[in-house]
Amino acid sequence: MTQIPPQPGIMDIALYVSGESKLAGHEQVLKLSSNENPLGCSDKARTAFTQAGQDLHRYPSTDHAPLRQAIAQVHGLDPDRIICGVGSDEVLQFIAQAYAGVGDEVITTEHGFSMYPILARMVGATPITVAEADRKIDIDAILGAVTELTRIVFIANPANPTGTFLNESELDRLISGLPKDVILVHDGAYTEFVDGFDGGAALVDRHPNVIMTRTFSKIYGLGGLRIGWGYGQRPVIDVLNRVRQPFNLSQPQMAAASAAVQDTAFTAHCADLNSRMREWLRASLVQMGIECDESHANFVLARFASPTDAADADAALRADGILVRRVGGYGLPCALRITVGDEDGCRRVIDTLGRFMQERRPA
Ligand SMILES: *Cc1c(COP(=O)(O)O)cnc(C)c1O
Repeated sequence: MTQIPPQPGIMDIALYVSGESKLAGHEQVLKLSSNENPLGCSDKARTAFTQAGQDLHRYPSTDHAPLRQAIAQVHGLDPDRIICGVGSDEVLQFIAQAYAGVGDEVITTEHGFSMYPILARMVGATPITVAEADRKIDIDAILGAVTELTRIVFIANPANPTGTFLNESELDRLISGLPKDVILVHDGAYTEFVDGFDGGAALVDRHPNVIMTRTFSKIYGLGGLRIGWGYGQRPVIDVLNRVRQPFNLSQPQMAAASAAVQDTAFTAHCADLNSRMREWLRASLVQMGIECDESHANFVLARFASPTDAADADAALRADGILVRRVGGYGLPCALRITVGDEDGCRRVIDTLGRFMQERRPA
């Protein structure tokens, strides 16, 4: 059978691989493979979702006004400069669609989020991957890779799967060095796990070429609902709204997200639990001889001596019903990305890895 050729780039897309959720022989899997909130979502979000389910025959609002208002109020932002999407992935897609195309280049980094090259190829652009420095985004490498063809630079900060973080002065240096017609996407999926960080909002205020993206999938525990948002200067948001489908978000999605963002006590509680357990997890790993950088997100990157060791550690965790993420596809074959669970979940990980390292030790 002859195949009808799709647009350039489409067949070069490697399908996204998501975190596993099932493990044969285990009823109660401890899923630490997708950076989900171990506490679930706010009860208020669940109630709002259920109530909104009473009116499924009604079309949702197309301008998302109440949700944008709620987000703006909680974060101290301008609601007219917010755009909402089906996960932040959709907002990232709007950006790629609106600002890059065939013949253009899109810069991503060595261990960057795997959606970025997928999005670049989706619109026919060429993803250019630049090296990182010890698992941290290398600003000079990015600036050195910019050409006349560069349209977009995608970075996640904190980064996934490394957990590393660029501070304000590093971000300033990156933006100052970029041409004014190149868009910097500052993906803030893990913003809420960094104490006192605005996710890049102030940067957006100062620079017309910076867009911040945020998600309800991580700290808000609503990954299953698919809601994210972006923040940019007015002209950029106006552009992005033109490629957005008018009814991209359903009413139950928007109602749950509004309630979630307004439940700031629950968010603070989740951030506090995460930072305590994250530090304990890291200290415990380091103590048993597993390398681990400081993480600024809701996961840690455990680094083993070799790809075989990482595979064996993964097998030991799976044998105990624990799913974490192999990150060989992110250029990190010796590492496992482990979502910070609740206290019980973290202890189970450390118990298993402790026994694993003990058995590994040469006699
Ligand atoms: C999880 C994650 C997202 C969120 O994606 P959604 O589509 O909002 O679920 C975005 N960027 C990065 C780097 C992530 O890790």
